[in-house]
Amino acid sequence: MKFTRLRVHGFKSFVEGTDFLIEPGLTGVVGPNGCGKSNLVEALRWVMGESSYKNMRASGMDDVIFAGSGKRPARNTAEVTLVVDNQDRMAPAAFNDADILEVTRRIERESGSVYKINGKDVRARDVQLLFADASTGARSPAMVGQGRIGELISAKPQARRAVLEEAAGISGLYSRRNEAELRLRAAEQNLERLEDVLSELE
Ligand code: ATP
Repeated sequence: MKFTRLRVHGFKSFVEGTDFLIEPGLTGVVGPNGCGKSNLVEALRWVMGESSYKNMRASGMDDVIFAGSGKRPARNTAEVTLVVDNQDRMAPAAFNDADILEVTRRIERESGSVYKINGKDVRARDVQLLFADASTGARSPAMVGQGRIGELISAKPQARRAVLEEAAGISGLYSRRNEAELRLRAAEQNLERLEDVLSELE
């Protein structure tokens, strides 16, 4: 799965719509302290379904919306779009008929986030699974934040195992198993209720 473009609008310090082309090969982002390099990586993690505002260095998810500066008023929405090349057909069946996938997450103050894939409304879980199946995502070990190496060295074995599972691309399977177990339990309860109704009728 190749990322080809990142569009950021109203997200943290990126108040204007900004388009980043991700060309094949190595991409470097350079700039002075505080210019928004980490914000850019956070935009990438956020659009892939990051659910923890703490992982966004924020005190609430609304904090990812541009908060205003001396000359500019705060905005009420933030939107990030990640354009993914899907020619290798890595996406789940539901989205696998397109060569290009545009994954968008939008947040409105006090209203939470909505997600779209190629313009269609989807759940956060669909977006998280799309990236988990391709061994990437908001918590991908491929994104190494400041201080992360030290954290891993001192991490508990379970936390290290989660990193390995993520890298092996099986974390999406856990989440699917969990969903399947919930559905199975609901079906069992329905069956029990049906048996009660049937025994009343007899
Ligand atoms: P360093 O090189 O020091 O790590 P950096 O280039 O990674 O810096 P970031 O941490 O990405 O910089 O950006 C920090 C800037 O983003 C700060 O100026 C901060 O005020 C601004 N910022 C963060 N959140 C928002 C927001 N919601 N609205 C407006 N500006 C924000």
